[in-house]
Amino acid sequence: MDITSIKTVQNLRGKRVLVRADFNVPVKGGKVLEPFKIQKSLPTIQYLMKKGARVILMSHLGRPKGYDKKLSLKPVQTELQKLLKTNVRLLPIKKTDDFRRAALVIEQSNNGAITLLDNVRFLPGEEANDKEVAKALASLADIFVLDGFAVAHRDSASVSGVARVLPSYAGLLLFEEISVLSSVMEKPKRPLVVILGGAKVETKIPVLKHLLPKADYVLVSGGIANTYWWARGSDLGASLIGKEFKKEVLAYCSKKKAILPVDMVVGTPDGKRSTVISTTEKFKMPAKDMVIRDIGPATVELFSSYMKKAKTLVWNGAMGVFEVSPYEKGTHAISRLFAAQSRGKALGVCGGGETVQVFQKLGILDDIDLVSTGGGAMLEFLSGKKLPGIEALRKASLKRKKGTR
Ligand code: ADP
Ligand code: MG
Repeated sequence: MDITSIKTVQNLRGKRVLVRADFNVPVKGGKVLEPFKIQKSLPTIQYLMKKGARVILMSHLGRPKGYDKKLSLKPVQTELQKLLKTNVRLLPIKKTDDFRRAALVIEQSNNGAITLLDNVRFLPGEEANDKEVAKALASLADIFVLDGFAVAHRDSASVSGVARVLPSYAGLLLFEEISVLSSVMEKPKRPLVVILGGAKVETKIPVLKHLLPKADYVLVSGGIANTYWWARGSDLGASLIGKEFKKEVLAYCSKKKAILPVDMVVGTPDGKRSTVISTTEKFKMPAKDMVIRDIGPATVELFSSYMKKAKTLVWNGAMGVFEVSPYEKGTHAISRLFAAQSRGKALGVCGGGETVQVFQKLGILDDIDLVSTGGGAMLEFLSGKKLPGIEALRKASLKRKKGTR
């Protein structure tokens, strides 16, 4: 691991510490609907408070084009106050003038106090990683902490920009996630079994490419499996297919390590009529209005046999369209086994928005070793891509090591 945790910094008392978190949460009527991401960032915030730092939090919310009152972090402020049981001051940062005022407020705040900058995407130049914006943000603090893994793949002013200006460290959440994911990528306990489902084929292809050589087995479902069968001449009707990835899917899924479903639940999108079909030969939909929706019972058994052998399990992407009954069965069965193995001998790592929902619903979220907050960033990490935020922390860490030599 070549990034450094904020925990290695000796004296934080009175230091102004700027934390880039991910508070991009669903909000409705001024209220936070799902505080999962905010809860996940509490350990870093509480650590800094306890050490007497003056904490400055920043995040984006949604996709505003310039200032937009509806996308203010006010609801996040309320939620943070509730969770931290302390006052959190929300500071506007629309104009240069606001920065001067924010600097003063922070300067005069007590040790352990929390301020929250409003939506960083209100700043023109945030997403383009404008140097002046990065400098303006950096001018508010002595130290920068990147804690939101879900934004680590963004080359924006509040992520990689500030990290190039200030002494920079990883927050507790980011450090833990990167540690676990790196160890899985570099020296996994074997067998390493990867489970890859979901809809967005374009995001799974690079993961499949990068993980196939590392994994012992890759269990494939969702859009990728469909694309494979379609490419081999099956007629899947209106099922989800990533036609533009025909070549890659054929190459990757023909490998021995790629384990494909042996049966699938096909049915009408509303779930009113469905049946199980075998996928071993060229096959077609039993009715015109039917599409592939879930893995079948024989596949659950097949996948389970690999999962039970695994010492490391990595999962992204649901097995089927679990949002519509009865197509949740495959995903639920795999989820339960994933949680049970996680509690047992396997290290279970998973991520991706939709799969997390399932664990929450089944009440097994806490059984899983690492539920990554990374989303798209986790997929990029698993694809072997360099993430701008992580790279900036890496450089900061290297610079420090050279400096002390
Ligand atoms: P994640 O967000 O878990 O990383 P994706 O966003 O790629 O994964 O896909 C999750 C979605 O994939 C789920 O909402 C589910 O309905 C859908 N899905 C899974 N299997 C299929 C399928 N065979 N056809 C269509 N959609 C599917
Ligand atoms: Mg998704």
